[in-house]
Amino acid sequence: MSEDLSHLLNHLGEERELGYDAVVPPIVQSGNFTYPTVAAMRATVQQEMERPLYTRGFNPTVGILRKKIAALEHAEDALVFSSGSAAIAAAVLSFVKAGDHIVCVHKPYSWTKKLLVELLERFNVSHTFVDGTDAENYRRAIRPNTTFFITESPNSLTFELQDLGAVAAIAKAHGIITLCDNSYSSPLFQNPIDLGIDLVAHSATKYLNGHSDVVAGVLAGSTAHIRQVMSKEFMTLGAVPSPHDAWLLMRGLRTLELRVNRSADSAAEVARFLEAHPRINRVHWPGLASHPQYELATKQMRRVAGLMTIELDAPDEAAVERFCDGLERFLIAVSWGGYESLQWPVCALKGPSGYHTDLPFTMVRLYIGLEDPALLIADLRQALERM
Ligand SMILES: *Cc1c(COP(=O)(O)O)cnc(C)c1O
Repeated sequence: MSEDLSHLLNHLGEERELGYDAVVPPIVQSGNFTYPTVAAMRATVQQEMERPLYTRGFNPTVGILRKKIAALEHAEDALVFSSGSAAIAAAVLSFVKAGDHIVCVHKPYSWTKKLLVELLERFNVSHTFVDGTDAENYRRAIRPNTTFFITESPNSLTFELQDLGAVAAIAKAHGIITLCDNSYSSPLFQNPIDLGIDLVAHSATKYLNGHSDVVAGVLAGSTAHIRQVMSKEFMTLGAVPSPHDAWLLMRGLRTLELRVNRSADSAAEVARFLEAHPRINRVHWPGLASHPQYELATKQMRRVAGLMTIELDAPDEAAVERFCDGLERFLIAVSWGGYESLQWPVCALKGPSGYHTDLPFTMVRLYIGLEDPALLIADLRQALERM
């Protein structure tokens, strides 16, 4: 991509003169900061968001990351959290109060759903889940007390898109704040703020870090919105990253462009192979021309990322398990966004009282990592033959 992007990923915010002119910014592994005078301390207290006082509020290593994330998401400011779930929870909690109502896309990330169903319900914040493939469903769900919209486009597991521009316009007309979980696309493939969305969250655990060795989250938005989150739930709940994790995340970002494009290139090859295979009933991946929302994907996303779900033509769970256990290059694991390809079968979601989900047992989510796509396709082919 552009010169600006490579500058952003590799240099922006890295004031090297403040760190012994080291090429790589040092990790400021300090919880606390000191001042030569009372006046100097007072000046810092007044700017707790931007200057080092105490690492729960601001840390110089985390501060570099905040600048990069804000720039990546075309936002004025950003915050970094100890997980993506913490970022989403802090954002929602900062903008709702008892008596409010939230509209959320159906089938969001599982802990976003739990935030609404299990936590906020207890504090008298109600919600409605809507099929987000029609933006008008957001409008229809509005009540007099609706104050917040949650989008996740594409959403988890089934990768249904919401028309973010249309949803944002409906929200603006009603004074409603909007959040988009943009983890799937990474900031390189979609920028919800450009489409009118107020707040953008990421599980930085996934593409942003990209090495499967850090759990973290980010939130980007206007100065006013980020200030509100910072002064409310960010500081109160205190789910902040360690400076070391922030540093690892900064290192991960340096290869973001290379990694996500490789993952998306390979996903396109894998998706086309799977779509044509007789033992595959369906491929949920919005980059396929046959996908019902392909046109919207082309309109609001630059590219479609490396996560997809397939539905196998499998008569029973045993056949699904033969396929999954037969895959040699896809680790069986949750999460995604690292260098390694993964598989996550719905039939693993079974507890003693049955399935935790109403999704079909034939579904397997695949994450396409950085391996040679020809080898991944050959592996899928042989596992489908065993099924
Ligand atoms: C993983 C994930 C989250 C949660 O992030 P954590 O870093 O695991 O807390 C939220 N949304 C999406 C889409 C995710 O994939």
